[in-house]
Amino acid sequence: MDTEALTAWIREFARLIAANKDELTALDSAIGDGDHGTNMDRGLTAVVSVLDAEPQETPSALFKKVGMTLISKVGGASGPLYGTAFLRMAAAAGDEVDLAKVLRAALDGVIARGKAEPGDKTMIDALAPAVDALAAGQSIQAAADAAAKGRDATIPLVARKGRASYLGERSAGHADPGATSVTLLLTAAATTLG
Ligand code: ADP
Ligand code: MG
Ligand code: MG
Repeated sequence: MDTEALTAWIREFARLIAANKDELTALDSAIGDGDHGTNMDRGLTAVVSVLDAEPQETPSALFKKVGMTLISKVGGASGPLYGTAFLRMAAAAGDEVDLAKVLRAALDGVIARGKAEPGDKTMIDALAPAVDALAAGQSIQAAADAAAKGRDATIPLVARKGRASYLGERSAGHADPGATSVTLLLTAAATTLG
């Protein structure tokens, strides 16, 4: 998994975010403030511009650049959380990237920053099962499938973190927007790194 392949992953994530922007926004309109699609698309569009202008030389530099750009451009709850995830990935990446290891570091970073637990109806509900699948030696496609299953499992949940938690019981019945965007991150990984 070299820097070129990892850059292709990030670019594919940006493409999927743009393609699913309206869906992410609709989900966030149902249980939040309706900006997750535009927040993420603004961030990933900026990431692609930065990578066009300054191709990165190492996995660690790539992840760091992505994290810093997301922190400065995405805003809201998801900006610092995705930003932390990528900065932790930068710290965990060596010359050769072990996807299970870097995504475990990302998950630990999101938990440390956001203090959410599995079942709180957040991005963790898609990321944790994907990390577990990779740690068990499963394929990246299997990890993406686990993320999608985790995303779907957020539908009946009542949110306990973030804006959606303000709705209480009314947050049930919709998939979590952040779990949905994390599933796109894993789907992009399966396409480009699998
Ligand atoms: P905001 O809620 O500030 O408008 P976004 O709409 O961009 O930010 O992101 C909302 C998503 O952020 C939620 O769907 C959820 O997945 C994620 N999120 C919110 N709070 C937390 C948290 N404490 N831990 C993990 N993820 C969280
Ligand atoms: Mg929002
Ligand atoms: Mg917002």
